[in-house]
Amino acid sequence: MCQIVEKAVAEGLSRRGVLAGIAAIAGGAALAGCAPTTAPVAAPAAAQNQPRAAAEGYRTRLVLLGTAGGPAWHVGERSGISSALAVGDRYYLIDAGAGVTHRLRGSGLGSPQPTRGPLDTLNAVFLTHLHSDHICDLPALLSAGWANGLSQNARRPVAVWGPGNRGALPPLFGQASEPPVVAPNNSTPGTEEMVGLLVGAFATDFNDRARDTGTPVPDQLFAGHDLPLPAEHLRDPNGTPHPRMSPVTFYEDDLVRVSATLVQHAPVFPALAYRFDTDDGSIVFSGDTAPSDNLVELAAGADVLVHEVMDRQAVESAFPPPRTEAVEALIRHTLDAHTTIEDVGPIAERAGAGTLVLNHLVPAFTPDDRRLAAQNGYSGRLVVGHDLEQIGIGAPR
Ligand SMILES: [Zn+2]
Repeated sequence: MCQIVEKAVAEGLSRRGVLAGIAAIAGGAALAGCAPTTAPVAAPAAAQNQPRAAAEGYRTRLVLLGTAGGPAWHVGERSGISSALAVGDRYYLIDAGAGVTHRLRGSGLGSPQPTRGPLDTLNAVFLTHLHSDHICDLPALLSAGWANGLSQNARRPVAVWGPGNRGALPPLFGQASEPPVVAPNNSTPGTEEMVGLLVGAFATDFNDRARDTGTPVPDQLFAGHDLPLPAEHLRDPNGTPHPRMSPVTFYEDDLVRVSATLVQHAPVFPALAYRFDTDDGSIVFSGDTAPSDNLVELAAGADVLVHEVMDRQAVESAFPPPRTEAVEALIRHTLDAHTTIEDVGPIAERAGAGTLVLNHLVPAFTPDDRRLAAQNGYSGRLVVGHDLEQIGIGAPR
């Protein structure tokens, strides 16, 4: 990723270079994995760490599985974006980025027995949007889930919730001619269709195992669902900013009530944030978003707000001046789809959130010290998220 950006800069941002940069940025990845060359990577401040032991005794816990934003693969401390909310001995998965299967295994969620867990206690999956960095390991979860706890899950089929069909291709940015359209007969499938397409893609394996060893078929294990947002908010997928709306409650079981709202991640649409209300407190996941009044309303009074964050300084340093108008537009385009370190604190303050947890960190290896600037304008507790940290909600039981 860094090389793409640096090459674009070196080439004076030729058309090819700019398009490569746009393509890289389109996944919310702008500079994921690009540590600024002048800034050393600092060890996480000890006071920021929230190890699993810190949440022991809590019935309801936020579990950070992967905290890196963007589709670049990382080696080391940060996996792709994914979180879990555990309530008692059950849990909910929010996004399924690169490495989620291994992070689940290391999290302590579900049964530790290799063939019984960790998916035996998974209640539901919630996808914030269909950018690849949020869903790329969903196929791994679904195709091999039967061998990792789904078969033993008492609540199967497990629901996979997410945005519906976009309904129209996004507008062109930074190029004059139309690129080829992928899957022109259905070029913007939603969650339910995507899960169905994945089942079709893995049909050889599913049929083989069902006939050979009696393995449950996908309909017995999981089911994709499109979020039922009011049609009036979905009319213009290319409108920006997103439609103003109040949260919609769409899911409830004996442990949680889940509400959602549209957030600002254009050209991605629908892009969603989720709120989980439990007996122990409320937790909100922003998904990928620029500052959004919908998100502030959703997060009103939440105990924990888990919010994405982008390092503006790193973005701008990758495109040093003098900049062409095209480069300035590219930087604006990137920042317009995300929330900067400087902006996230006041958002949490407006919402009145008790704790702000930063995740979907772009670039992944911006020093934590710089992210601590998110405290500016926020009077609550700030946590810079790290993989496999856990945060208790409410009081220990
Ligand atoms: Zn995204």
